[in-house]
Amino acid sequence: MLKSHNIEINPKQLKHFGLAEVIGIIKHELCHYHLHLQGKGYQHRDPEFKQLLEKVGAPRYCQVIPGTLNKKQTTHIYQCTKCELVFERKRRINLQKYVCGRCRSKLKKI
Ligand SMILES: [Zn+2]
Ligand SMILES: [Zn+2]
Repeated sequence: MLKSHNIEINPKQLKHFGLAEVIGIIKHELCHYHLHLQGKGYQHRDPEFKQLLEKVGAPRYCQVIPGTLNKKQTTHIYQCTKCELVFERKRRINLQKYVCGRCRSKLKKI
């Protein structure tokens, strides 16, 4: 597999992380790639993916280089239906469970 495909190393990555970490990033990416080609579970939550990462000693998560891939990260914005306080969360929250910290009213997604 390594012979038949080119792996691109982004010079920005090399500069930012150093060689050892870049190797880790490449290993991680190859795990996605390898399992994808084989039609197996290649996503972070898949057990095959986790096993392969462990086997090759790759980092668990994709590394994000500051200022390059940040667009990928979505933020969820919620607002209190009563006092209109706005919350920003990186993860989706359960609207059945969470209430406004200020007035305890329901939140809505905006
Ligand atoms: Zn990944
Ligand atoms: Zn409120």
